Amino acid sequence: MTAAAERWILHADMDAFYASIEQRDHPELRGKPVIVGASSKRGVVAAASYEARVFGVRSAMPGFRARELCPDGVFLPSNMAHYVAVSAEVHAVFERFTPEIEPIALDEAFLDITGSLALFGAPQKLAAELKHAVREATALNVSVGLAPNKLVAKLACTLGKPDGLKVIEPHAVRGFVEPLPIRRLWGVGPVLGAKLASLGVETFADLSSYEPGELAKAIGERAAELQRLARGEDTRPVLAYREPKSYGEENTFESDVSDRTRVTAALTEHAEAVARRLRHDDYSGRTVTIKAKLGRARGRRESRDASVATEPYYPLVTRSRTLPQATSDGAVIRRIAVELWDEAKLGEPVRLLGVSLSNLERGTGGLQLELFTGPKSALGKTLDAITERFGERAISRAVGHTEKLTPGRTRKRGT
Ligand SMILES: [Mg+2]
Repeated sequence: MTAAAERWILHADMDAFYASIEQRDHPELRGKPVIVGASSKRGVVAAASYEARVFGVRSAMPGFRARELCPDGVFLPSNMAHYVAVSAEVHAVFERFTPEIEPIALDEAFLDITGSLALFGAPQKLAAELKHAVREATALNVSVGLAPNKLVAKLACTLGKPDGLKVIEPHAVRGFVEPLPIRRLWGVGPVLGAKLASLGVETFADLSSYEPGELAKAIGERAAELQRLARGEDTRPVLAYREPKSYGEENTFESDVSDRTRVTAALTEHAEAVARRLRHDDYSGRTVTIKAKLGRARGRRESRDASVATEPYYPLVTRSRTLPQATSDGAVIRRIAVELWDEAKLGEPVRLLGVSLSNLERGTGGLQLELFTGPKSALGKTLDAITERFGERAISRAVGHTEKLTPGRTRKRGT
């Protein structure tokens, strides 16, 4: 087997999160069976302390059942706003270890730590530091599982609880998963579990060694994927969300452009496209930037294209202006972009033009052209609707279409 580029995924899951927060905040509850979320008759258990789990109380269990099992339990209502605040502290700690974080729940996340190992050392060491940091910040325990993929990391985390730290090295993956009961596999619920049991499949090893054709006949097209998972193979990436830092649109002209009408047309189209995307994602921004790549090469520089040594160097010129208020209004962005262009007085043709908005904030922003105050935001939405229906070329404010030969859109995110 060839060694694929090695990944290290960490699954972090707070132990009995809501119940642990209550026990932390109310010392008199420590050591007692604390059950959160089932305080009303209709309630469902949101979290049970380890003391309550001894009685068989589990998350998602109906409140009446939890009361039968644990009549002397301390039943508390969920204080969700508080748990969300603690969750933010926990996730802030995670961010000290890697930007590649996929939040799964308030108390749970996948972290791709592959790129962080150079800084923190071995997976074991990073994990120990992370656990310590969470405890320092919140006085709560987090369990972690580390493995070459998400599936195995989560299993390692779950099986190490409470206060776990389990590292599964690549060579140990098969041996780790093989004896596990099949119900531990993602995608195997009660129905499929029963079906597999009827085939004599009880463990991961049973599933991975089942004759593939027979299995497909029995359980359908999921068979191959499930068999891969049962071998501990999982290629799903950690899907990190990052706040965007800027929204930009740019184009390279087929031939260099200096004519102001064509430049204005391009800036208008970019401004509208940026505004549309901002509104779609519910952002606005304060800083408008235009960039232009000058048409006349200034010598050559080392190429980023490996097939050639050098490439002509066209200087990139940028001009920015920061507005007093955020905007997502294409007319405002366009006006500033054209002003920046005029003020730049480049005096030579350009090969590329771009418009971007940065200094982003949430919401569509307050700044609009006086002309459009009031009905303007409705106009923006109308333009969005028309464009969605007829495509980007269906409408164009003020001037004609620009040639958009190699369109580029960017959404720069933080790291
Ligand atoms: Mg948890």
